[in-house]
Amino acid sequence: MTVVDRLNEIKARMEKAAKDAGRGDRARLVAVTKTFPVEDILPVIETGHRIYGENRVQEAQGKWPQLKALFADIELHLIGPLQSNKAAEAVALFDVIETVDREKIARALKTEMDKQNRTLRLYVQVNTGLEPQKAGIAPDDTADFVAMCRDELGLAIEGLMCIPPADVNPGPHFALLGKLATECAVEKLSMGMSGDFETAIGFGATSVRVGSAIFGNR
Ligand SMILES: *Cc1c(COP(=O)(O)O)cnc(C)c1O
Repeated sequence: MTVVDRLNEIKARMEKAAKDAGRGDRARLVAVTKTFPVEDILPVIETGHRIYGENRVQEAQGKWPQLKALFADIELHLIGPLQSNKAAEAVALFDVIETVDREKIARALKTEMDKQNRTLRLYVQVNTGLEPQKAGIAPDDTADFVAMCRDELGLAIEGLMCIPPADVNPGPHFALLGKLATECAVEKLSMGMSGDFETAIGFGATSVRVGSAIFGNR
């Protein structure tokens, strides 16, 4: 199977999962291209797919400026941790940042968006499993953090994002993210990866982030 065959298969499985869940809307697919070179990504872009995710600013800078110059409507998501000294580069390159996880980053993004006159769409990452090695706001602090971003910094938060712990049933984590989004009056839910995107769609994911199931093992 080619990368394009696998992309089409993932899209079909997403559609079936939405139908099985009785959803009238569709989840969007963020194709995660980390570690894969431009020549692996181009065939997918050429199918018309436009939404991509990278988890490192520096790696993304090595491939996406040229691709965005060729395909102006590409929507690039940062799905990995952001350091505040990379905020300027991230704001210049990405369209969506899914990993806002502390006040310092929120402030740095606000400053850079104002400076560059760019408005990125922002998600708050929630550490639903309270894992010490994982980034994200604790579930109990999410409402206050979203309110601080909105009221103090004037940042619109579009959604919440989570990465459930490995080797557990992700369902309760997806359900928790959905509950927090309702509490925070946040609309979008970024959840689900290659191994569990159908489950995430069943729990209301508005976008899923799928890498290895499309591009192969890293
Ligand atoms: C790598 C990555 C993904 C994609 O993972 P796969 O298992 O390859 O689909 C999704 N989300 C984040 C945050 C990632 O870093």
